[in-house]
Amino acid sequence: MKTQLFTNTPENIIKTAEILKKGGLAAIPTETVYGLAADALNGEAVAKIFAAKGRPMDNPLIVHVAEFEDIERFALVREIPEAAKKLAKVFWPGPLTIIMKKGGVIPDEVSAGLDTVAIRLPSHPSARAIIKAADTPLAAPSANLSGSPSPTTAQHVMNDMDGKIDAVFDGGACGVGVESTVITLAEDTPRLLRPGKVTLEELREVLGEVELDSAVLNKLKDGQKAASPGMKYKHYAPKANVILLKCTDDEFTDYVNRCGGSGVAALCCDEDVEKLCVKYISLGKRNDYEAHAQRLFDSLRRIDGYGNIVTVYTRLPSTDGVGLAVYNRLIRAAGFEVIDLEKS
Ligand code: AMP
Ligand code: MG
Repeated sequence: MKTQLFTNTPENIIKTAEILKKGGLAAIPTETVYGLAADALNGEAVAKIFAAKGRPMDNPLIVHVAEFEDIERFALVREIPEAAKKLAKVFWPGPLTIIMKKGGVIPDEVSAGLDTVAIRLPSHPSARAIIKAADTPLAAPSANLSGSPSPTTAQHVMNDMDGKIDAVFDGGACGVGVESTVITLAEDTPRLLRPGKVTLEELREVLGEVELDSAVLNKLKDGQKAASPGMKYKHYAPKANVILLKCTDDEFTDYVNRCGGSGVAALCCDEDVEKLCVKYISLGKRNDYEAHAQRLFDSLRRIDGYGNIVTVYTRLPSTDGVGLAVYNRLIRAAGFEVIDLEKS
């Protein structure tokens, strides 16, 4: 299949929407990462997403709408909980996904057989324009090959998906850089399943009690069921081995320099740069967690682009604010391995 690369024009919004209406696959920009979209109400079209990504069929997809009213118009959920209305007022359009009890129109391919559905109203103008023009909700997971870092540019998508999907709509680099925050309202107490730009602290300000799912920070124990099936896989990993170091700032640069060698790189902060003697990519200023999130996946892909990097060292991130989203992605990229220099 030839994958068309569309520039950001009104005609290409229409062309992308037409591909989707006909049951095709198109990667679209959102404010979080690029999504691989299909008509969410067409099970056959949705099944093609899993094939293109190599995604396990038990990992459900997020359904994207252009307006809050679309949830009722398409009967996507059984009932909209009051908490969802409160969250939507504050955070939509934006990088928050809300899980609710699903309506009968949701194909099993979207919900992976669960009785819930994940819904998001993105703020990216091209994403909303494409959903509006297609006049159907769009199922859209991140547009990467399953397991690899999510794409934050159209070029990242082409690297993974060229020849496998109908089109990629180039809307420039994504502003947030990590996938949406996912919260479930399908149980008695709201629970954060995946951290993102909308933080746990912000969710608690709106809803009061919000639990943190144990899979956000920890590896699932053998036999433990994942509330969010996507949290159980090794994920976001570049080809190079990612090693997380729990340490002070000086220990970080000293340790990485001692490891040295041509196959080693540091994923670091601006403040480390002058102390490092190995290849590095900086995620930004030390306490600028939003910058770290925005650059994370692009940096992991660039490390692989060097060709010869075997090991990349980075610090165990803070779990405050947007730091929690970076922590969650990096701990999975590292397969949950952390070297604690404070203890050794
Ligand atoms: P992605 O589409 O690649 O951003 O991944 C979507 C994330 O949302 C995955 O971690 C899924 O497991 C999770 N997700 C989607 N739908 C549901 C659902 N109904 N219940 C729990 N988690 C979900
Ligand atoms: Mg993904």
